Amino acid sequence: MAANISSNPGIYLHIPFCQKKCPYCDFYSVVDSEYRDHFVDDILKEIALIAGSVKQKAPFDTIYFGGGTPSLLTVREIETILIALYHTFSFSATVEITLEANPGTIDLPRLKAYRQTGINRLSLGIQSFINRELQFLGRIHDRQEAIQAIEMARQAGFRNLSLDLIFALPGQSKNDWLENLRMALSFHPEHLSAYNLIFEQGTPFFNRMKAGKIIPKNPDDEARFFEATVEYLREAGFLPYEISNYARNEQFISRHNYKYWTHTPYLGLGPAAHSYWDEERRGNVRSVKQYHQMVQNRRLPRVFSERIDAHTREFEHIFLGLRTYNGIDLAMFEQQFRHSFLNRYETIITPLLDHNLAEQKRDHFRLTQKGLFISDEILSQFWADPHV
Ligand code: SF4
Repeated sequence: MAANISSNPGIYLHIPFCQKKCPYCDFYSVVDSEYRDHFVDDILKEIALIAGSVKQKAPFDTIYFGGGTPSLLTVREIETILIALYHTFSFSATVEITLEANPGTIDLPRLKAYRQTGINRLSLGIQSFINRELQFLGRIHDRQEAIQAIEMARQAGFRNLSLDLIFALPGQSKNDWLENLRMALSFHPEHLSAYNLIFEQGTPFFNRMKAGKIIPKNPDDEARFFEATVEYLREAGFLPYEISNYARNEQFISRHNYKYWTHTPYLGLGPAAHSYWDEERRGNVRSVKQYHQMVQNRRLPRVFSERIDAHTREFEHIFLGLRTYNGIDLAMFEQQFRHSFLNRYETIITPLLDHNLAEQKRDHFRLTQKGLFISDEILSQFWADPHV
């Protein structure tokens, strides 16, 4: 079975609206914005602007509606955006079109209509099946709505379903977490994303942690949860293909997200969206108001662009590659960077191999499960290396 990975570019659309802000979340999104009604027109303007500023070298083969809460868009709005994209750019014969959906914002007719627009992959932000945990996370849905959302997604015809879960919540026991995984697997999803709770600076959770009102799990506990996740999902036959992502098999690897880990170009549209294009990282303005004003004045809503020089590119290649279970393709590395990965980083690599933190499998170098637990520490050694 061929892995669902490609080198064609992708398109990301950031839908920056939420019904309510979750206290742990640092993604850019707003609630009750006066710019909501203008949003689709703004996106269409940006599509037209960007079409005039980029040269497409290969057809796009993914479209990803992320956010924020893309399932707050009506079916008509999604259709309008997709039609504009199809009229503007060229696409492969098979395009993976993902929509992130919040279980508290969907019903069966809406999901059926989404499916008919061509969306063929649904990513449901379940986070937990335990009401106490959902309340702690400030989610707008409960366990029953999470279950109904999954059942409705199947009834609507989604055959590529991804479920998001969060682990290592304060007070969460390992059994609570395993129960969440067990529940998720009982619906036979094609894909799972399991993230540990991070206390991002500037979020209400971060402030509560600083004030001593929330005690996060310690790193050892987090590692144990991570280890339990990998073991549980491996035993269930899932392929752990990235540090937080698991596919039922290679066919269900997220084609879009894989582009982020392999330096494959993608265009990001919408407020706060990022792009990687022509070896530059670019970022859009993080404000719906300024975004609206810029595109309506026929200006690209870009606020930064940074050329990725050879050294940064090499570090990013290592950083992104070592997050994936395939690791670094040694031949491809040498072809791209004109030197051998194993020779250049021998002083870092040898102790990793000696301590079973990394392994060389055929022509790939990758972190072991043990190494992945402390990947931040390992990756910082590459960053500190004078070669990079
Ligand atoms: S619904 Fe998603 S994007 Fe919106 S605040 Fe909650 S976690 Fe963030």
